[in-house]
Amino acid sequence: MSQTSTPAVGAASATGTLMPAPQGKPRKVPRVIVLGGGTVGLYSARRLRKRMGKRDAAIVVVDPRPYMTYAPFLPEAAAGSIDPRNVVAPHRRALKGIDVLQGHVTHIEHANRRVEITPLEGDPYWVTYDHLVVGLGSVARTLPIPGLAEYGIGFKNVEEAIALRNHVLGRIDVASSTWDPELRRKMLTFVFVGGGFAGIEALAEVEDMARYAVRHYKQIEPEELRFVLVEGSPRILPEVSEELGGYTLEQLRKRNIEIFLSTFLSSCVDGHVVLSNGTEFDAETLVWTAGVKANPVLRNSDLPLDAMGRVIANEYLQVTAEDGTVVADAYTAGDCAAVPDLYNPGKFCPPNAQHALRQGNHIGDNLAVVLRSGEPTPYKHKNVGAVASLGMYKGVAQMFGKIKVRGFPAWVLHRTYHVFAMPTVNRKIRIMAGWTGSLLLRREVVALGSLHDPRAEFRSAAVPPKPKVEQTSQDTPPTDGATTQPSLPSYKAEPGSPAEKRDEHADNT
Ligand SMILES: Cc1cc2nc3c(=O)[nH]c(=O)nc-3n(C[C@H](O)[C@H](O)[C@H](O)COP(=O)(O)OP(=O)(O)OC[C@H]3O[C@@H](n4cnc5c(N)ncnc54)[C@H](O)[C@@H]3O)c2cc1C
Repeated sequence: MSQTSTPAVGAASATGTLMPAPQGKPRKVPRVIVLGGGTVGLYSARRLRKRMGKRDAAIVVVDPRPYMTYAPFLPEAAAGSIDPRNVVAPHRRALKGIDVLQGHVTHIEHANRRVEITPLEGDPYWVTYDHLVVGLGSVARTLPIPGLAEYGIGFKNVEEAIALRNHVLGRIDVASSTWDPELRRKMLTFVFVGGGFAGIEALAEVEDMARYAVRHYKQIEPEELRFVLVEGSPRILPEVSEELGGYTLEQLRKRNIEIFLSTFLSSCVDGHVVLSNGTEFDAETLVWTAGVKANPVLRNSDLPLDAMGRVIANEYLQVTAEDGTVVADAYTAGDCAAVPDLYNPGKFCPPNAQHALRQGNHIGDNLAVVLRSGEPTPYKHKNVGAVASLGMYKGVAQMFGKIKVRGFPAWVLHRTYHVFAMPTVNRKIRIMAGWTGSLLLRREVVALGSLHDPRAEFRSAAVPPKPKVEQTSQDTPPTDGATTQPSLPSYKAEPGSPAEKRDEHADNT
């Protein structure tokens, strides 16, 4: 792929233009670059490829990860109900006929129709394009709370889901092998901050898994498990009605989950949790699920952003300036975009998979039409509702705004809806096969915490023995009453140096 070619003149946009394409020799086949291979990226690229052959458009997807993650299944992956490998769709398999570049987009210069890509190894480079699709998603929205960066863990990607599962099961293992009551309490206290869909599902699924796991530990009583939810607003699950939110609250409280509403996390230095209502306790686990914000890399671009850092879009999913003027050849959708919700005038589409997936497909359709000099169509989708799993056989759902479902039927609805939404038939089959296996054989609750540092054992075996200090006559304790000589200083590495770390490690092994 050429990385320095002159960008081609883009296709005419629907209603006006900002930042027209720089003049130059047109490419034989227009190049569409898709930033982010998540929900929007994967669906828009696949739909465009379906609509246009390789001779009509070249498509390049850029993402640091080699897969798209279907986030609604992350809570089940953390609980061990789904194999984490099956909640991701590998790009190389799912994006047939599409080029994939692995790396971070670090700059977007749409005026020059080029993006800078920083690969995982090696120097950054620029790639030119004719049409841009921005689907860079979101990152956790955090606050400068003392201890949070050092102690907390997010819940946005599959790596975090795997780490959380291993960590929780690992803490149960540690607690079962210590009789120090304070340490046990700390190990068995799990805090979740944020009572939106992602937070509640993660909390409920992980709690269900932990409670199931402690059945296998004679040394731990189920009452010793302490799960705490901290939510800043007076209610949870703002995505569903107050009634259903209240029902969920009641169910969680019945499971002895402590819930602090209208309360904020004030600090968590070294695992000492302090809440805004004065409550204090120690916890080894703190999961941050208090919302998301648009990908901050968008600040390194010349695209128009709103006050929340989202790319401004119109209903055609075209990027626009604040006054509505269309930015030629640029499209955006998903969590990183402010897309008007035509069913709720004056509001924007909420950041969820339901919209991201459909918007991705819509961009693919619109781009195909525009590349053939047609007119794009507006994106319009009425929310079909929300479904959440609250652990094995438990759930809550609100369909089409009115139909409220609780308990087992809601859980079935959750699994059915999401398995159909999961991209690729391959993944759908694997997930359903996994569920069937767990139904027959029960779920597995083993902690594989050492996965996160697989070299530890080898490192300790490979650490060279400490240099032996030769004993000299001066070291020999005087026995004859002669003047005591200062002994030779033993080898001591500089504080914080790799050598000191090696020594510490060797001492501990
Ligand atoms: C735990 C959890 C549960 C959820 N449950 C639900 C649910 O039940 N229902 C629902 O509708 N929604 C749910 N959501 C929300 C939903 O998953 C998101 O709204 C949706 O995935 C957004 O799609 P997107 O394409 O905008 O972003 P993503 O799917 O996140 O894709 C963004 C992509 O950009 C890539 N990227 C990031 N930075 C760069 C860079 N610098 N360069 C290149 N690529 C980059 C990322 O690797 C990623 O692949 C949940 C989210 C979470 C975290």
